[in-house]
Amino acid sequence: MKVCIVCQKDIAGKDAVPIKEDFIIRGIRSFKQFFHIAANNELYVCADDVPVHEKRRGEFERSMIFFGVLSSLVVIILIGTLLLSGRFDIFAFISAIVIGVFILLLSVVFKYSPALKKDIDLVQGRKPVLPKELEAAEEKSEKAGVRYIRK
Ligand SMILES: [Zn+2]
Repeated sequence: MKVCIVCQKDIAGKDAVPIKEDFIIRGIRSFKQFFHIAANNELYVCADDVPVHEKRRGEFERSMIFFGVLSSLVVIILIGTLLLSGRFDIFAFISAIVIGVFILLLSVVFKYSPALKKDIDLVQGRKPVLPKELEAAEEKSEKAGVRYIRK
């Protein structure tokens, strides 16, 4: 089934933008497949939800930057303290890196929102869409900064 990740509904009869399959999506999918709970849905954002999604994606990107800076600082401070104390050992060094990665993961866990494929054809659901509705949806998406190329 082709599903919108915002409203969780089938995109049949609507315009929708596919999301980029990144390593997080692929990771979640193989995790679910391993436990046989994968729905194997194709993931989209329907045109109506593009503005909402773009906002979430923006928040996720900002929190990635914030946690990225934070985790680098923590790692630098931890390793710096280790070096200054003169008790440097590889186990403590690895622990510092692990803590840094863990902090970075927090931003992914709480705010993750995938990127949209941009500059692509709109993917249509099964039912034909009236041109007027199409235009309105496209206009709405353009306001959110998404551009489409239509053949
Ligand atoms: Zn939707």
